[in-house]
Amino acid sequence: MSDDELFLTAILKCSRSELLIRPVPLTDEQQERFNAMRSRRAAGDPVQYICGFTEFMGYRMEVGPEVLVPRPETEVLVDLVIKKLKMYPESFVLDIGTGSGCIPISLAKELPACRAIGLDISTDALHYARRNVVINGVVDRVELIARDVFWFLDETKYHFDALISNPPYIPSSMIVGLPVDVRREPIMALDGGPDGLHFYRFIIPGALRVLKPGGFIALEFGDGQLKELENLFVITGGWDKIQVIKDNAGKDRAIIACKHNI
Ligand code: GLN
Repeated sequence: MSDDELFLTAILKCSRSELLIRPVPLTDEQQERFNAMRSRRAAGDPVQYICGFTEFMGYRMEVGPEVLVPRPETEVLVDLVIKKLKMYPESFVLDIGTGSGCIPISLAKELPACRAIGLDISTDALHYARRNVVINGVVDRVELIARDVFWFLDETKYHFDALISNPPYIPSSMIVGLPVDVRREPIMALDGGPDGLHFYRFIIPGALRVLKPGGFIALEFGDGQLKELENLFVITGGWDKIQVIKDNAGKDRAIIACKHNI
């Protein structure tokens, strides 16, 4: 869909096919909104922020400048996690850095017996996640917690079947070179420290504390980070069945590992 078509579907609250079948003249107020949306786009705002929503795994997610725009690459990871979780009855999952809540919400939608926690340090991001949990009808199975990644260190109450994260993984020095619309996304959702791996260094060992034996971890990562990540799993110990997943562009994009079943 072109940007203009997307703006029109947002203004007229209709689908693209409805737009094509029954073109309606815009009212003055709608025309003004359309022009304002085009100006924001020309100034570099992501189209999803301008419309106020996007789709992830076919589900509507409301988004704004306080959350990362959910990406198709992450859908590849979530798809695989869903397949794996079908082997865990009544699964319990943690998503670290949940942002819009797109990951736990999709899992809860696809797996009727799955319960999930979405953790995020940003209360502004959780505002969107809360709303998305409501509009997708999974309030009873998705809990949102406003804490940072160190939550692991004193957590003894929960034991999860799976831990998922799409943490910030762009090396700090590369942020300035990102396309202008990506730079409109929250820096705290993008910046992964000097080599981009800052968060994995907490998440990989921390996961061993909160995963059940035989549970698994699934992490998205960026270009050129696979070797170092595999190394982190080996150094940490306690993991096996490491599996690497490619995105639709054929790039290594996610890694899954199982906690030793002892
Ligand atoms: N989990 C969210 C997503 O995948 C947000 C990730 C983030 O903010 N780094 O879109």
